[in-house]
Amino acid sequence: MSLEKLNECIQIRRANNSRAREAIYNVLMQSDECLNICDIIKGLSDTYPKKISLNTLYRHLNFFIECKLIVVIQNDFKRAYYALREDSLMVFCICTKCTNVSKLDLVDFIDLDITEDVEFITIHKKCNKCTN
Ligand SMILES: [Zn+2]
Repeated sequence: MSLEKLNECIQIRRANNSRAREAIYNVLMQSDECLNICDIIKGLSDTYPKKISLNTLYRHLNFFIECKLIVVIQNDFKRAYYALREDSLMVFCICTKCTNVSKLDLVDFIDLDITEDVEFITIHKKCNKCTN
């Protein structure tokens, strides 16, 4: 994964380059897990020297969503989790106990008969942390 896709979108949409946008994208790129807004802010504090306002953060996230670079998963409390979109179908687990959203391996769901053109699948069950 690289910044290529992001740069493509920026060109197509004639958007200005933005260090902040790139930093946010990097945080998402470097994580294997879905991130909520707090996780992203925390990730940025390690990698980006300036403070990014919530407004700016959401504006850039919306840009990623519009460009179909990321997917948004909402848990049962409408808390949003963000993950970089992958080429293959993505499966997410919404934990029935802690309500965290995590990524699951598609291999475990290969039997699923998916005929519809879905963006991703969410499954409700206890996450790994809560089952142990
Ligand atoms: Zn859990």
